[in-house]
Amino acid sequence: MVRSYFRVEKILMEIASGSEVISLSEIGQTSYGPNGYELYMIDITDNKYRSERKKHVCISAGIHGDEPAGVEAVIRFLKDISQGSPILRSVNITLFPCNNPYGYEAGQRSNGNGNDLNREFRRKRPDAEVLLIKRGLAGRSFDLSLELHEDVDSPGFYLYELKKDTEASFGKDIINIISERYPVNLNEEIEGMRADGGVISLKGSESEIKEMIQKRRRWPQALYQFNRGTRHCITCETPVNIRMEERANMHLLALEYILKRLGGVVYEKKA
Ligand SMILES: [Zn+2]
Repeated sequence: MVRSYFRVEKILMEIASGSEVISLSEIGQTSYGPNGYELYMIDITDNKYRSERKKHVCISAGIHGDEPAGVEAVIRFLKDISQGSPILRSVNITLFPCNNPYGYEAGQRSNGNGNDLNREFRRKRPDAEVLLIKRGLAGRSFDLSLELHEDVDSPGFYLYELKKDTEASFGKDIINIISERYPVNLNEEIEGMRADGGVISLKGSESEIKEMIQKRRRWPQALYQFNRGTRHCITCETPVNIRMEERANMHLLALEYILKRLGGVVYEKKA
């Protein structure tokens, strides 16, 4: 075991129990492991601020077990926001903190059944983790979905962006912010796809993009999200050749920018 999921669970429970804006839900267990691994979904909302116009953001981390920086980033984010934040005037957040607990502990991409969960979102009978995420998402619609990943082969940060025609692009701005402090992958091709200044995006109108998605047999969570109506999907990829703390920082910089843009207010970090 390279990492402890129990540690993650403990931290999540501590943060939630001391917070009025964070609520932690157990959403079900994996089918393997002595008692199964419990999966969690978190809602961050400040009921002091009632507005019909709040934006709804979904954040997911840890679906690939050997990409732990996303999990670290969401833990730090939860600590920062646990006592409230101006951003919650205009944004509600649904968060999946660690979607592949077995892989997280084993330090492997796949889950306990040896499957890549981030290719199962179109399967009729996906593994329990994917089923539980899809159930958690059901009935909720999102303005933006953010997924936190890492790439062992990349010399720097990059991201995937998928959005409806009506949405402004955030990709270049996020890259600019991150490039002030960290390396960015500026290759013209990343993971077999055309990239432009660290941004990989499917070009075309919304209906053309939907058509491309329909042709794909295996869906990652981002394609599932877009197909179910999420307006804007961003997947961040951090390089693993720098320290964990810095990789988590990169994810947090992207997240802070996104919340600021969506909410129209500056999200200020506590000292
Ligand atoms: Zn990944």
